[in-house]
Amino acid sequence: MKKLLLGSLIGAFVLTGCSRNAITGRNQLNIVSESQLQEMAVTQYRQFLAENNVVTANSSMSKEYAMVQRVGKRIANAITQYYTQQGLGKELQGYKWEFNLVQGKDVNAFCMPGGKVVIYTGLLPVAQNEAGVAVVMGHEIAHAILQHGSERMSRAVAAQYGGQIAGAVIGSQNQALGNIFGAVYAPVATTTMILPNSRAQESEADRYGLRFAALAGYNPQEAIPFWTRMAQAGGSSNVPTILRSHPTNEQRIRDLQKIVPEAMKYYRPMSN
Ligand SMILES: [Zn+2]
Repeated sequence: MKKLLLGSLIGAFVLTGCSRNAITGRNQLNIVSESQLQEMAVTQYRQFLAENNVVTANSSMSKEYAMVQRVGKRIANAITQYYTQQGLGKELQGYKWEFNLVQGKDVNAFCMPGGKVVIYTGLLPVAQNEAGVAVVMGHEIAHAILQHGSERMSRAVAAQYGGQIAGAVIGSQNQALGNIFGAVYAPVATTTMILPNSRAQESEADRYGLRFAALAGYNPQEAIPFWTRMAQAGGSSNVPTILRSHPTNEQRIRDLQKIVPEAMKYYRPMSN
């Protein structure tokens, strides 16, 4: 059975294993390639949008729609500028940014590889304002561009299939890989399994996400009140979905107290 699965899982063989992240310098497992993930993300994102109620410019939430577009575009521009200045523009290859506000009570947001962002309307009361949305969007986008998705999926693939497939490139149309993708991106989960981010990934997403939000003109000091509100929401009976993949605790808040002053150096307040 396992052999059969393995046989269908492996499409072609190319030797890859670990690679050093261009921005963080950290070595990451990457059995599943970024371009493959982007390809899967496009399909999954389209399907997700088709199955959900997407807020449009003409709806009763036109103000919120415009706000999400504005935050997204500002952050994406800040990231493009930041990467270009460091000579790392090619790291964003394949990025075709999209920002969608989706109707739903869930307190949740995500960014799939390739820049496919979703903010749930249920998150807006916790975010409270535009800077709050920028904090969470910066964080989600940082996970994507720091290739945390491919790292989490690679770990899951390695754990499931062992060393035999390390170095294999897996067919992106594969069902097993699709299920693992679902476990990484909870909203498209076909199972109840969720693969949470590691502490290292959370910390990186906080650090770079806030830096990008700051460069986009949003005050990084909003981060601590935002995540505190989120943690408080986590204490209620209706635990925000986002906390299942982004564990938040007191240690995280203490870490943010170090990250916020660092991000303040990048803060360029909006002139208008
Ligand atoms: Zn996170």
